[in-house]
Amino acid sequence: MNSTIEEWEKTESPDIVLKALESQIKQLYKQSWVGLIGVLVVAISICIALWQVLPSWKLTLWVGILTLVTSARGYIIAAFKRKAPVGANIIKWAKWHVIGTSVSGLTWALPSFFLWPENSSEYHLIWALCILPLSASAVSTYYTWKASYISFILLSVIPVSLRFFYEGGLSYIVLGFLALFFIAVLMQAGSLIHTSSLRTLIVGFRNEALSVFLSEEKAKQEKLSHQLQKAHDQLQKISLTDDLTGLWNRRYLKVTIQKYVAQVLRNYRNFHQGLERINSSNTDIMFIMLDLDHFKTVNDTYGHNAGDQVLKQMSHLLKKSCRETDTAIRWGGEEFLVVSLNVQRENDTILIERIRQAVETNKFDIGKESPLHLTCSIGAAVFPFLTNRPEALSWEKAVDLADTCLYAAKRSGRNAWVTIISTDLTISDDLTSDLAKHLPGLIKEGKLKIKTNLKENMVDCWPD
Ligand code: GH3
Ligand code: MG
Ligand code: MG
Repeated sequence: MNSTIEEWEKTESPDIVLKALESQIKQLYKQSWVGLIGVLVVAISICIALWQVLPSWKLTLWVGILTLVTSARGYIIAAFKRKAPVGANIIKWAKWHVIGTSVSGLTWALPSFFLWPENSSEYHLIWALCILPLSASAVSTYYTWKASYISFILLSVIPVSLRFFYEGGLSYIVLGFLALFFIAVLMQAGSLIHTSSLRTLIVGFRNEALSVFLSEEKAKQEKLSHQLQKAHDQLQKISLTDDLTGLWNRRYLKVTIQKYVAQVLRNYRNFHQGLERINSSNTDIMFIMLDLDHFKTVNDTYGHNAGDQVLKQMSHLLKKSCRETDTAIRWGGEEFLVVSLNVQRENDTILIERIRQAVETNKFDIGKESPLHLTCSIGAAVFPFLTNRPEALSWEKAVDLADTCLYAAKRSGRNAWVTIISTDLTISDDLTSDLAKHLPGLIKEGKLKIKTNLKENMVDCWPD
């Protein structure tokens, strides 16, 4: 911090300068009552002490003037308290205070000329002994405002010192110099107290400003990171959703499925180690692949826009048919994948049939007079495929198997669902990477079993 106020005022921020001034002046007025009371008490005490040696009318007049001045100063202090000025307005109140201390100082200058007992050195000392401590207490009371205590010290002590010089004689001259020395000491002490109190104030305000700045910056930072997170979430949502239907896209499955698969595998691992009972109602994942039948005809007959309308309505239909924990994905074109979590494998076909019926019975609105009726074909596969070897068929292979079943449903007449499940005879070696090729053989051997809403013997149309 700079050593002088002038330097400090030049370099410090105007806000902090104003706040410090404001605080100094408030403190000045707050402490001034003590000064006023002190002045009156000392004045009355002196009058009593000098009553015998000075004309009473002179003393009474002086105390009267002093009381008047002190009352005026009291009035200014009360007005300051009442008006509670802030900001730049407060500066003019400092001027009023300095006027008050100057007039009060002058009142204490009067005795050196008009209330000076003749030929009575011990009574002369009374004035010095009262005025010097009074000016010292002015420093300790008004230290926040230099002009206030300096004006009081100079106007009250210099006349006493001059009076001592005027009296002449060695002891008086020494006393005169002592009074001047006392002024210098008081000025120095006042300046030190003033500077250190100002320093404390400024450090406080700087800290306050810094903490406001920091909390504002923190708020800005939080807002920015919130916006960033929001933008990131939006971007991620956009990159994971399908424009036309608003459903999730394939990428979404890749991003999210792993944690569900890991959970399922963990459940089974714990179960096989005897740590956990598998609750058959909520353990498995079902992949349900769905394709609209003869959708190309919709486009060809009613136009691409009508086709888009149908696809959009499919998204509502799927959401309505699924549970909250199920996820509907637009797999591509007019093909959708429903990922159903917490599936009970014994009852796994209820949802599939519900979806098939929902499509079959839905009236697709394509802006024509009569609604459109469509059907869909569905293939499904459960994960894990083999409960005693949950990792034998990956989730990707389970999706492929669902696709193969969808193909079978198409080839078997459409508006149908087909799923393949393991049997007691299934072993993990049967689940090779070219499983689709071996399906007819494995089914025949009883190693795999078809579940369908069709007659089982109608489903024999597997890819070559
Ligand atoms: P199938 O019963 O065998 O599934 O016959 P399909 O006509 O439904 O199947 P196909 O694969 O022959 O035709 C699918 C059509 O879906 C062809 C394509 O133009 C249309 N399609 C794919 N994506 C969109 C889309 O976003 N909007 C519209 N309107 N049509 C689409
Ligand atoms: Mg189709
Ligand atoms: Mg298709």
